[in-house]
Amino acid sequence: MLVYNSQYHKKQELETVEPGKIRMYVCGPTVYDQIHIGNARTFLSFDVIRRYLMFKGYEVTFAQNLTDVDDKIINRANEQGRTAAEVAQEFSDAFIEQMRRFGILDPDIRPRATQEIAAMQEMILSLIDQGNAYVVDSGDVYFSVRSCHSYGVVSGRDVDQLQVGARIEENEDKRDPLDFALWKAAKPGEPSWDSPWGPGRPGWHTECCAMIHRYLGTPIDIHGGGADLQFPHHENESAQASCAWHAPLAKYWMHTGMLQVDGEKMSKSLGNFYTLKEVLDKYPADAVRLLMLQTHYRSPLDFSFQRLEGVLGTLQRLQGTVRNLRWAADKSSANAHDINDRDRALGDVADATRTEFGVQMDDDFNTAGALAAIFSLMTAANTYLDEAGADVSTSVCLRVADTISELAGVLGVDVAAKAGEELPAELVGLAAEHAGYAGDVPSEAAEALLAARQQARASKDWATADAIRDAIGALGLAIEDTAAGARLKKKD
Ligand code: AMP
Ligand code: ZN
Repeated sequence: MLVYNSQYHKKQELETVEPGKIRMYVCGPTVYDQIHIGNARTFLSFDVIRRYLMFKGYEVTFAQNLTDVDDKIINRANEQGRTAAEVAQEFSDAFIEQMRRFGILDPDIRPRATQEIAAMQEMILSLIDQGNAYVVDSGDVYFSVRSCHSYGVVSGRDVDQLQVGARIEENEDKRDPLDFALWKAAKPGEPSWDSPWGPGRPGWHTECCAMIHRYLGTPIDIHGGGADLQFPHHENESAQASCAWHAPLAKYWMHTGMLQVDGEKMSKSLGNFYTLKEVLDKYPADAVRLLMLQTHYRSPLDFSFQRLEGVLGTLQRLQGTVRNLRWAADKSSANAHDINDRDRALGDVADATRTEFGVQMDDDFNTAGALAAIFSLMTAANTYLDEAGADVSTSVCLRVADTISELAGVLGVDVAAKAGEELPAELVGLAAEHAGYAGDVPSEAAEALLAARQQARASKDWATADAIRDAIGALGLAIEDTAAGARLKKKD
């Protein structure tokens, strides 16, 4: 399968460091606030990449950090009169909660910067020993960019050209404007840890590199993040690894395109952002996932609520199709027939869809193409259900429903038909009253009510039929008359 390696600006055949295994790392958030849906797009992209690699049979180990000490956290804490640790704890918890709500699998390893100080200090000491880093009077430690011969390989930048635009900030006493801080001496009131260079805290570029080395070993297979991290963050991470351990940090560097609003990158600093929480409070996670996955992960993605509304309909159609297939299979199992040409044709579409899904995903995780394949199976299934009426094949219906569920599931989209479970318990009382039902199972009660209504209609007892319909309607349900019979669904 092909993976786009942004280091080389091209797709490459995926050849893992160890056969059958993938070690991957995606830079996590700085926990000073709720994340926005731009951040979520990046995390979703790598969630789907991870899920697909697992689906392909790779043993995937996935690590993601939490940057829980940083200027932004300290500033937020000062504004709110709280400690940086309190702010970081609140938004680490919030991040984990929203990621789970969004259907993102937990990482196997979730290191936090504040818990990894020893590993970072060990790496910094090694860089100083090898002449790639230096301590200044203030107690800051800087990485010497010019000492690293491979600097620029990840982002394709030339050190001499970078030099032109670089300048030294007033409060820094580094030797070269390109150098970056590995360790920052503590300022009054800031969280700090003891170190050989005095009390201080790590620089942002230090943590991922030390954590990757400690938890995954270098080089890893895939290192990911948003395109805005390629330079300087990933370049700086790569430089530290190649100088500290004389090995590349990662084989494949993968970067996601930016989520945009009105053509502009969504970011906290521009103020044009929606938090993932506020979007998930209003829309199902599966709809948001579908919307994002309809664009290839490397392309910019234009977000709008109008598009999201449209995708909501697509999700409902997908779920409806799977529900109808399962329901039709259930109904037809009593009068099963031999497989006919129509059944066989739909079964063939299901097989072709599975193949096409793999082809698209093997091509640098083309989720847009993979979804298009699922949608064409959905269309074929709906045509089949319309045409076949009650004369469907149980096995083909189930196979198609399973194929849609499984492939959508690889993208983390849940289309499972839960119609029976969604039915309200009040149906039992209604069925006792209108249909003489004596049990306590809502799905059976629904069947009994529908049968009673059908009987009333057959004997032209419109008053009874309407009373049953109205009572069902009062529970937020509607009766759907399909070719294979009537059933209940939630009102649109
Ligand atoms: P940060 O907390 O700013 O380091 O961001 C966490 C992750 O979200 C990083 O991988 C960023 O590259 C990514 N990111 C930030 N803004 C966007 C955006 N508008 N679209 C996609 N990814 C983004
Ligand atoms: Zn990182």
